[in-house]
Amino acid sequence: MAVFIDGCFWHGCAKHFVPPKANADYWRLKIARNRERDADTSAILESDGWTVLRFWEHEDPRKVAVIIAGVVRRAQGDGARPAAPTAGD
Ligand SMILES: [Zn+2]
Repeated sequence: MAVFIDGCFWHGCAKHFVPPKANADYWRLKIARNRERDADTSAILESDGWTVLRFWEHEDPRKVAVIIAGVVRRAQGDGARPAAPTAGD
């Protein structure tokens, strides 16, 4: 399993990313490239059989931990029925 906690600025969170006023075009392009790389990284890992979980920096860490634990339990096949992973906002 690969777990990423994406920073709201560096990964372009739709809720929180605000491009700096100085060099705004540079930053928009930079963040767009970061997002493309995130998608590529996830796709490569998933094609190699990894489970990829991505969360935002702004998400409640307790909810994130519950989701991760649920995925781990399912992967271990312990028969428990953890809550379906849903990304909290
Ligand atoms: Zn955010």
